[in-house]
Amino acid sequence: MTTAEIPDSIHFGGRWQRGRGTPLECADPASGEVIAKLTAASADDVDEAARLGAEAAARESWRDLLPHERARLLHRVGDLVERDLEELALLQTRNTGKTLGETRALVASAAGTFRFYSAALETTETSLTPQRGDYLTMSVREPIGVVGAITPWNSPIASDAQKIAPALAAGNAVLLKPAEATPLVSLALARLVVEAGIPPALLSVLPGAGSVVGDAVVRHPLVRRVSFTGGTDTGRAIGRAAADKIMPITSELGGKSPTIVFPDADQDQALAGVLFGIFSSSGQSCIAGSRIFVHESIYAEFADRLVAATRALRVGPGTAPDTQVGPLATFAHRDRVASLVDRARAEGGRVLCGGRRPEDPGLEHGAYYLPTLIDGLPNDSTTCQEEIFGPVGVVLPFGDEDDLVARANDTVYGLACGIWTSDYRRAWRVARRVEAGTVWVNTYKRFSIATPFSGTKDSGLGTDKGRDGILQYTRQKSIYWGLDENERLWRI
Ligand code: NAD
Repeated sequence: MTTAEIPDSIHFGGRWQRGRGTPLECADPASGEVIAKLTAASADDVDEAARLGAEAAARESWRDLLPHERARLLHRVGDLVERDLEELALLQTRNTGKTLGETRALVASAAGTFRFYSAALETTETSLTPQRGDYLTMSVREPIGVVGAITPWNSPIASDAQKIAPALAAGNAVLLKPAEATPLVSLALARLVVEAGIPPALLSVLPGAGSVVGDAVVRHPLVRRVSFTGGTDTGRAIGRAAADKIMPITSELGGKSPTIVFPDADQDQALAGVLFGIFSSSGQSCIAGSRIFVHESIYAEFADRLVAATRALRVGPGTAPDTQVGPLATFAHRDRVASLVDRARAEGGRVLCGGRRPEDPGLEHGAYYLPTLIDGLPNDSTTCQEEIFGPVGVVLPFGDEDDLVARANDTVYGLACGIWTSDYRRAWRVARRVEAGTVWVNTYKRFSIATPFSGTKDSGLGTDKGRDGILQYTRQKSIYWGLDENERLWRI
C-alpha cells in the first residue's frame, strides 16, 4: 500500500484493524466529493491502544534502547516523511482544502520536527545536583509511559509531529486523536513510523468524535499526560477532566491576534505581510492576524490598498498552482464563518470586501468563502473579540501608542502579534508590552521548531517546540546515592 492510499482500517494496538466506533466520512472541501469512509475508534479501542502501548513502552527492547539508537529511528521517520512529501501533501490538500504550497511546507516541517527531536534526544542530560552531604544527588528523566496527543484539523501532519516526535523521543507510547474531519494524513504518518522500525504499538491513531474518543484518551487511567491543540472551550473541558486525575496537560488554544502597521513601516512589505497573516490557510490559523490596527495617519490609504489587494487574491482549489486562498476545511465551518460575518453586519460593521461565497460557477460545489475585510467596529465588539478562524479580518484605526497597546491587549487571548515599523526602538517597546506568546517584527507566521511556542491568557498553558519540548514528556526522578561506608542513619 502506498503512503497516500486510504486505508480501510485504522492503526491502533500495534496493527491495522477495524475500529468499533461510529464510522466517519472525509470529504474534499474543494468539491464536496466523499474521498474516504473510515472506521473510527471506540472507547474500547482506546483502552486496547493504551494497554498495548504501555506494554510496548515498558518492554526492554524499547525501554533500554540507548538514546542514540532511538534517535536513529526518529531520524529515519523524518527521512521517510520527506521521501513521500508529494503524496502526503496531496492527501492533506484533498482532505483539508489547503493549497499544495502550504501542505508541502507542513510535510517538510513534520520531517524537520522528527529530525530535530532525534538530535534533541541525544543531547538530553541527566544532572548531578550540588552535593549537600556525603551522598551524590542526581536528577534523571524517565518516560511517562502513555501520553495522549489531541490535534485540530487546520494543520494535521505538522501538529501531529510536534507532539509525536518529542513524546516518542522521550520513550513513551502515544495515542494520537486527530480531528474528525481530517484523520487521513495522520494515518499515513503511522505507516511511516512503523516502516522506520518503531514498535507498532507505540503509536496508535484513533479517529473519531472528540466527545467520545478524545474524552476516552484524556480519562484513560494509563494516560498520564495529554498535549492538546484546539479551541479554548475544549481546552478548558480537557483541563477539568485532567484535574480529576492530577494529570498535567499542555494546551495550545485559540487566538485573536493584533497585527499593527505604523506609519514608518515599509508599506508594501506591511501590506503583503498583513494579507498573508490573515488570509493564508484561508484564515484557519490560531495565529491569524485577525485584528489589523493601522495608524490613523495612513489609515485611509492603507485600507484602500488592503481592500484592492484582498479582492485580487486568487481563490480556488488547493491543487491549482496559482491558488492563494483555498476552501474552508468543511462546509459546516464555512457556514459558521458566514454567520459570524452576518453578525458583524448586525453589530454595525461595514463589509469592505468579500462577505459572501464566490460567484464563480467552478467553485459552487466547494466550501469557499471570499476573503473578507470589515471596519467600523470598536475593539470591544463581539466580532473583534471572538475567534472566527476563517478569512475575515477587522481593520481598526489607532493614534496613540499607549492606547494601541491597551486595545491590542484588551482580549482574553494572548497568542501572537505582528508589528510593522522601521523604528527598532518602537518595535522593541511594543513587542515587550504586548501580551502574546509570539511576536513577529516585520514578518509574520515564520516558524522554527527550535523556537518555543506558547500562548498566554486563554490562548494556552505550557510550551511546545524548542529543545526542551521533549522534557514535558518525561518524569523527573531524584536519586540519592550514599558514599559513606560507615554511615548508620539510626542506632540499631
Ligand atoms: P476543537 O477544540 O473543536 O477540536 C480539537 C481536537 O479536540 C479535535 O481532535 C477534537 O475531536 C478534540 N476534542 C473535542 N472535544 C473533546 C473532548 N471533550 N475531549 C477530548 N478531545 C476533544 O478545535 P478545532 O475546531 O479542531 O480547531 C480549531 C481551534 O484550534 C481554533 O480555536 C484554533 O485557534 C485552535 N488551534 C490552536 C493552535 C495553537 O497552537 N494555539 C493551533 C491550531 C489550532
